[in-house]
Amino acid sequence: MLKLTNTLTGTQEAFTPSDGEHVRMYTCGPTVYDYAHIGNFRTYVFEDVLRRHLLSKGWKLTHVMNITDIDDKIIRRSVELGVDIHTYTAPFTKAFFEDSTTLKIQRPDIITPATDYIPEMVELVEKLLAAGYAYREGDSIYFRISRFPNYGRLSRLDKRELKIGARIDADEYEKEEPRDFVLWKAPKDDQEPRWDAPFGTGRPGWHLECSAMAMKNLGATLDIHCGAVDNIFPHHDNEIAQSEAVTGKPFVRFWVHGEFLLVEGEKMSKSKGNFYTLRDLIERGHDPLAIRLELMRVPYRKQLNFTMEGLRGSQSSLDRVKDFLFRLKSATLEAGSDPGIASGTASARNQFEAALDDDLNTAQGLGAMFELIREANIALSENRLREDNRREIFDFFQTIEQRLAIVPPLESVVQGDQEIDALVARRNEARRNRDFAMSDQIRKELVDRGILIEDTKEGTRWRRK
Ligand code: AMP
Ligand code: ZN
Repeated sequence: MLKLTNTLTGTQEAFTPSDGEHVRMYTCGPTVYDYAHIGNFRTYVFEDVLRRHLLSKGWKLTHVMNITDIDDKIIRRSVELGVDIHTYTAPFTKAFFEDSTTLKIQRPDIITPATDYIPEMVELVEKLLAAGYAYREGDSIYFRISRFPNYGRLSRLDKRELKIGARIDADEYEKEEPRDFVLWKAPKDDQEPRWDAPFGTGRPGWHLECSAMAMKNLGATLDIHCGAVDNIFPHHDNEIAQSEAVTGKPFVRFWVHGEFLLVEGEKMSKSKGNFYTLRDLIERGHDPLAIRLELMRVPYRKQLNFTMEGLRGSQSSLDRVKDFLFRLKSATLEAGSDPGIASGTASARNQFEAALDDDLNTAQGLGAMFELIREANIALSENRLREDNRREIFDFFQTIEQRLAIVPPLESVVQGDQEIDALVARRNEARRNRDFAMSDQIRKELVDRGILIEDTKEGTRWRRK
């Protein structure tokens, strides 16, 4: 049974789709004014793990994610460069999907660029105006929060106000102060992109986008809506207000929010300048799989402090997986099954499932995997592991790959390269003939080609670095 922490109630609740079969999920996507940083990708990786876990339950899933391709920053930068907003955002949208693929993030089923959904947004504003939830001020349209009962329910507004007043400076307090928010913005100057609407020419506000695109594709009530914790207020509280004011139905059953990626105790963000893009890290030679592992090492509900040391730690964890898979694959094993190892594998599998069911506890899920690696490595050294055990362990790693997508591809671990095999054989022959100068020379050649060799009881093994 899958339990998720629902921000709406502040508790863990058992999740099943409302109709028992089909999960309708919406995740807030990127604003494509620049490259996404790995803080953003921590959120997308957590949502990807959730997505994969939901699919593993056999439920049908419709996962919608928006692309915010119009906002103040996009307009400002495209005006500065003298290009239209689409020309400005297209490369960043492309980069976002390339980076997502590099991080093995599955593509949502429906991608909704905001500028493709203007008619739906216009319709929503018309309904809000007609029902008296929205009003005009100047040439813009605003949502009147005092008209909506329980405004701020998701962020528990009164408590939050008290907390925020006590700890952040007045400027930021004012900025976050609950207030009527804009639904439709009149253009400030000639250069701003605009659309015609019965209530005046303009462009949509950010909050409006997600309500319109979510309900258009998923219906009035979604099963799950995700984002990072900074989306809770005002963005998600505003989405609730706009949507429920129109439909009179609960907008979302489960609100699921990921915590921040921090750098030295502060939120990683563009505005603070303390960020890395995925491209930065790959350019420095980091392995995307290690980055993915690092981003999910800590369960999504806890903050994760990003350091290079942490990333190196994830790389060594990944190397441990690689070494183990290599060793397991290349071992010569007897037929049959060792019952102790068989039950260890089954229990690792159960622990892995239970951990993910427990509010996506990725740390514990990974823990179960590493414990099995430890036990199986001992069994290999003691010649206890059998063919059937190997098959079951590989099956389990296939499951881990489907769910967490952090398992190094076996092809990269073991290479049946004849030329290398021949060199290794020549080196072994040289050693048998006690021609150590020759064997060292061949070893060096192998190292230069990025091949590591290991002499074991069972013979010489090699793998690529
Ligand atoms: P943006 O492109 O700025 O709209 O952000 C995209 C997503 O990344 C949003 O859901 C943000 O809340 C989330 N996000 C931004 N910074 C961080 C961070 N440091 N850690 C985790 N998620 C973040
Ligand atoms: Zn959103």
